[in-house]
Amino acid sequence: MLPEAGSPWLLQLLRNLQLGQFYQPILEELNVTRPEHFDFVRPEDLDSIGMGRPAQRRLAEALKRHRSGVKSKNWVYKILGGFAPEQKETTPPSLNPPTLPEPEGGLKCLIPEGAVCRRELLGSGCFGVVHRGLWMLPSGQNVPVAVKSLRVGPEGPVGTELGDFLREVSIMMNLEHPHVLRLHGLVLGQPLQMVMELAPLGSLHARLKAPAPMPPLPITLLCLFLRQLAGAMSYLGSRGLVHRDLATRNLLLASPRTIKVADFGLVRPLGGARGRYIMGGPRPIPYAWCAPESLRQGAFSSASDVWMFGVTLWEMFSGGEEPWTGVPPYLILQLLEKDRSRLPRPPFCSRALYSVALRCWAPHPEDRPTFSYLEELLQEAWPSEGRCVRDITEPGALQMEPGDSVTIIEGSPDSTTWKGQNGRTFKVGSFPASAVTLADLGGSSATHPVHRSSPARGERCRANIDGEREKEKPWDLPPAQGQRRKVSLQRMKGISKSLESVLSLGPRLTGGGSSPPELRRARAVPPGLQGLPPCPPFTSSSSQPSQPPRERPPRPKRELLHNHRINTPGASKATVPSGCLFPDPEWQRRIMEVELSVHGVTHQECQAALRTTGGDVVSAIRNLKVEQLFHLSSRSRADCWHILEHYQWDLSAASRYVLARS
Ligand code: AMP
Repeated sequence: MLPEAGSPWLLQLLRNLQLGQFYQPILEELNVTRPEHFDFVRPEDLDSIGMGRPAQRRLAEALKRHRSGVKSKNWVYKILGGFAPEQKETTPPSLNPPTLPEPEGGLKCLIPEGAVCRRELLGSGCFGVVHRGLWMLPSGQNVPVAVKSLRVGPEGPVGTELGDFLREVSIMMNLEHPHVLRLHGLVLGQPLQMVMELAPLGSLHARLKAPAPMPPLPITLLCLFLRQLAGAMSYLGSRGLVHRDLATRNLLLASPRTIKVADFGLVRPLGGARGRYIMGGPRPIPYAWCAPESLRQGAFSSASDVWMFGVTLWEMFSGGEEPWTGVPPYLILQLLEKDRSRLPRPPFCSRALYSVALRCWAPHPEDRPTFSYLEELLQEAWPSEGRCVRDITEPGALQMEPGDSVTIIEGSPDSTTWKGQNGRTFKVGSFPASAVTLADLGGSSATHPVHRSSPARGERCRANIDGEREKEKPWDLPPAQGQRRKVSLQRMKGISKSLESVLSLGPRLTGGGSSPPELRRARAVPPGLQGLPPCPPFTSSSSQPSQPPRERPPRPKRELLHNHRINTPGASKATVPSGCLFPDPEWQRRIMEVELSVHGVTHQECQAALRTTGGDVVSAIRNLKVEQLFHLSSRSRADCWHILEHYQWDLSAASRYVLARS
């Protein structure tokens, strides 16, 4: 190895000390090539190559500086690229402007550790904790800020968290928009700290969930927030960035009427001609907010951000509900793609706004509106305002007084009852149309169409993008209409509390009443079925390996598997009842066993599967699982069979496997 090629740092260091003549001997005689090798070099060794003691001391000092510099700086600069903190750091205080250092272009700065003091905790996220703080400017002015500190483990910062933290810094420092949270600077201390603009009112999600007596947010304010968000996202897109974690939890309230997009930990540059970012490997993603292509291929683009915008709109009008509550993550893709289901219209959301959300949820990314077009669509869907002209005291009606402003949620010329929000009480309800005049129609009575866009499809029942109304199954009732199930997302350790890995998508047994309904259903085995062989595919979790079925009947012929279609009854065998009105109890018992064992299948599907297998329960269960996996992934049924077999027919584990690799 050529010495110069091997240890340029050493050559440089020695030259700086005017000790360049020792380079070769140190390298060749002492075999030192890396700074830490000096730990094993004794003074006598350096004596032996002719280096005097004063030179040795200078070398020791320089090595100390070099090694601490390598540790504390290089990795920061490497990730931050063009960030040149020294320039700011060495600026004499007297030369700093008296106010916030905000030169043209929003230049960010390195902030000395002593200039920031942290106060109370505001929240915690992916990389650590966020505190309220004060930043003391050299002028003596104190600026309220939020300080995000990188979590540091006993061994120092965790590799990926450090990288993500610095990536967030490097992205934020180049952004400047009225609705994007501003980064003031970075503290290169222990721990590393991001000093950001303070959003004193916290996250929009927390505000949406705030209990009474906090009134709900006015609908017009939510519309304003949506417009601000579309503007900010349009800006991010124009900077070639995709946010990937758009949700109300990441919108911060800088003032009562101003939101700011925050949390840039998942932001990535859009690469390539197709303007997409493809995830390099299995990483945590907020699956319930994600577009199908993100769930399936890890593909993110401005169009997938638009999808998330639709989900964020839904959250806003659902009072901060969690999308797809109670639906296991791996089923969400199936619901979106196979069943073409969509989140239902929230009660406070007008049809016009809901149709905007449905456009954001177009299956093909290219069919979704852009953010700048969304700004226009939102304008068109802006709810009309009216004014109450008489006391409304009818029982069950929204109580109003003359002069109250009212935001119209639903109202058509043919309808005598409208729905709206009282601008004084913020209550939502129905009222007689004749009691309100529309503000934007010059005070004419309320007999005009209120919404400018066509009505949204799919309200009431779970929406289907084909406009079909589906009969709700107990497990897929939307949270806003069914029993609200407070099944919170599984929180991943060390990961933003809202994020869940596609690798942890399997249902979990919590053992409590808060478990998803499909699990509760599986556990609620009727007394007559208790002696059945255990075959519960969803009783497994990552920490709980699944049990193979007690009996392992011969594997069904491959043709059977390939020909099987869930909704197409196979050839009935003589021994199998075929749809008689009161089928025998044994047949019913088998259907139920299959139904309890395979998540998300209907009674009819189980019946058909059993007919196909001649009543063989285990084979029917397997075939149905293969179908489930087949619809979840882009793999062939034969592949799905192999994968399931490998995972001992644990559909949850097999789903995780295919999702992580699709
Ligand atoms: P994050 O790590 O960005 O997910 O932030 C975690 C939590 O800290 C958020 O949910 C907010 O409640 C709070 N937070 C973060 N940044 C700010 C800020 N700039 N101003 C006020 N609160 C913040």
